[in-house]
Amino acid sequence: MSAIDTLPPLRAVIAAHGLSARKALGQNFLLDLNLTSKIARQAGDLAQCDVLEIGPGPGGLTRGLLAEGARKVLAVEKDARCLPALAEIAAAYPGRLEVIHGDALEVDPLAHLTPPIRIAGNLPYNIGTELLVRWLTPKAWPPVWDSLTLMFQREVAERIVARPGSKSYGRLALLAQWRAEARIVMSLPPEAFTPPPKVSSAVVHLTALPEPRHPADPAILSRVVAAAFNQRRKMLRASLKGLAPNIADILEQAGIAPTDRAEQIPLERFCALARLLEDQAAKP
Ligand code: SAM
Repeated sequence: MSAIDTLPPLRAVIAAHGLSARKALGQNFLLDLNLTSKIARQAGDLAQCDVLEIGPGPGGLTRGLLAEGARKVLAVEKDARCLPALAEIAAAYPGRLEVIHGDALEVDPLAHLTPPIRIAGNLPYNIGTELLVRWLTPKAWPPVWDSLTLMFQREVAERIVARPGSKSYGRLALLAQWRAEARIVMSLPPEAFTPPPKVSSAVVHLTALPEPRHPADPAILSRVVAAAFNQRRKMLRASLKGLAPNIADILEQAGIAPTDRAEQIPLERFCALARLLEDQAAKP
């Protein structure tokens, strides 16, 4: 019998530890261990990997990751009420689960892990995009992680994998597809969660590319795409005018017509724009 079978069912864990879901913490729990194992399998073969899990809650996905063979799971959880339930899992998998009680936006535990490293989580929706953008925009590339397997609201998942011309295309698609291969690998209806959220969800798997598809400085590219899509209906010349006094010339050099709208512009041109802005800023 595997260790996962020796632990009580998640409903019993929740009842025993009084883990009533708190909306402010984005708590929509996954209680079906077949489902959490299936999500863990989307992260690939975990046998030789350390996994960073954000928001383990009562530990459904944590149990999936451990049962699927993760060498070690380091889990960051903000809600102290979940710690006793997670301690029970740690006891069932000696030496393989470490829990940090803290805010994932404040602690950066990646340095505590040994590569290869994968990141996984049924993320609290309010911090998911912020964390994703941080993981995608370190100065150096490749990053310390190999892949991200993350739950998002369906609408956010679609924004991550969107192609130019689609209404979901924007900052998230550009930053994700610049340095990673991004795919939606599972869709989940609201009823898969306890309590059910208002919207459907999807798991996105992102694999880090060995190098970005086109050269660009991450901070400059982030600034350009944020400005370009801030008012997506505006012409680019107007949205980007704050970035350089001669923005019309720079757009032309990047192969972008001043009347183009952001959602029509492919990644390659945004990267060219970022490089031109960087060159201009470096000039004495
Ligand atoms: N992984 C569990 C599951 O699938 O059942 C719980 C998922 S629930 C959607 C999100 C979890 O993230 C909750 O346990 C919540 O307490 C935790 N959380 C919320 N904000 C957090 C933060 N800033 N840092 C770390 N954990 C957080």
